[in-house]
Amino acid sequence: MDTDVLIIGGGPAGSYLAYYLVSNGFSGNVMVIDKKAVIYAPVICGELLPSEELLKPWISRELYSILLTTLRVSLRREFIVNEIRELRLVINNHDVGTMPFRTYLIDKAALIRRILEESVSKGATVRFGVTALRCSSDGQGYKCLVHDRQGGEYTIRAKVLVGADAYPSVVDVSLNITRGFDATDLIIATSNRAFGKYGEEEAVIVMDPGLAPGGFAWIFPRGDGTHNIGVGVRNNIAWAGNDPLTYHMAFVNKYGLKQVRKSVLMKTIPVGGLLDRYGIAKAYLIGDAVGSVIPTNGAGINPAMITAHMLGEALIKGRDYASLMNGVLKPLMDRMLLFRRIGDPLLMNRDAMERAFRISRRVIKGSIYEATLSSMRLRTLTKFLLGQVLIKLISTTL
Ligand SMILES: Cc1cc2nc3c(=O)[nH]c(=O)nc-3n(C[C@H](O)[C@H](O)[C@H](O)COP(=O)(O)OP(=O)(O)OC[C@H]3O[C@@H](n4cnc5c(N)ncnc54)[C@H](O)[C@@H]3O)c2cc1C
Repeated sequence: MDTDVLIIGGGPAGSYLAYYLVSNGFSGNVMVIDKKAVIYAPVICGELLPSEELLKPWISRELYSILLTTLRVSLRREFIVNEIRELRLVINNHDVGTMPFRTYLIDKAALIRRILEESVSKGATVRFGVTALRCSSDGQGYKCLVHDRQGGEYTIRAKVLVGADAYPSVVDVSLNITRGFDATDLIIATSNRAFGKYGEEEAVIVMDPGLAPGGFAWIFPRGDGTHNIGVGVRNNIAWAGNDPLTYHMAFVNKYGLKQVRKSVLMKTIPVGGLLDRYGIAKAYLIGDAVGSVIPTNGAGINPAMITAHMLGEALIKGRDYASLMNGVLKPLMDRMLLFRRIGDPLLMNRDAMERAFRISRRVIKGSIYEATLSSMRLRTLTKFLLGQVLIKLISTTL
């Protein structure tokens, strides 16, 4: 089986790339394969997307203009399940109040389904239930061995190969493209729906290293009385024998949540910023596969679509994907990674978080709020850094 572009993974990154290519005059064949039997089910995600006005003041003009293009698709009325206006921030046990937070709860599976339907109607081929096992370069392009639920194993050949299959990508692993992430740059996140006595227009974020070490816990209202909930636990902590499910259940019990599904789903989120390479020759990585999740808040839907947009532009207009990524997305990702790394000692240790909160409630609250907005002012970053140095000095001299 042959195609010009083979996209492995039909999540936000892969499906949006297919859509972008067939909608913008790409002349070759585009094929998407995904290992899931049913399109994008089950969903393991908070499904929260920011409004464009929330992000506009924080990001570069070029990034904003791409974001607008992707939001035009992801925030279509038909996918919006609920409109959220405020964020309630809880630090350890301190409810520090609410802040403006115009965001949307979307039906992510419906979004993916619609993007893929539109891609197919414009000529793309989409195959579900097909898992890429390994890929290699074969001189003229690439070949991938796949397992098809219906037809056993066969090879797909492609001139251009795209890993959009989250982290770690089979394309990355097979072709040895990147150095990968350390455990400290990965989060295991849990996901479920739950009933709870929380407002319908208010998202709740709990920064409590006792409940979500190295990450945070969230309650996002769906507008129908249920909430998308979960906790993020850094991999190095989970791998040291601390089961994320135990943290999840502690969070559920402490915050009075009644889970809808018995089984709690889990998935890895890369929070180490963009990987050291974005591709090799004509094999590329997009979305979680390239590490495009915002390191401070785990938001990855928009960034995945933004990387797909940039690769689409590179393939259609003959531009260099790496230069586009370095110019548009990397500065923001690097800044947020720096902030996450400076904040790690607090995120990993409840007492350290408590101390920092008591010493400077305003700086901690402001920094966490800005980090949640996917960006950060240089002034806030500097204050936070100085605060950290001060806390270190105080704790070592006491
Ligand atoms: C619990 C949780 C909560 C989150 N909440 C939010 C949120 O509220 N807002 C937000 O913006 N982001 C959130 N994220 C992050 C977001 O879900 C991801 O960043 C985003 O989905 C990345 O898109 P993607 O297309 O790169 O990867 P994915 O969405 O993971 O899609 C990858 C696809 O590849 C397929 N695949 C994998 N391996 C293979 C293979 N070998 N062969 C074929 N197909 C394969 C998978 O089946 C999947 O469909 C959350 C993540 C988690 C885990």
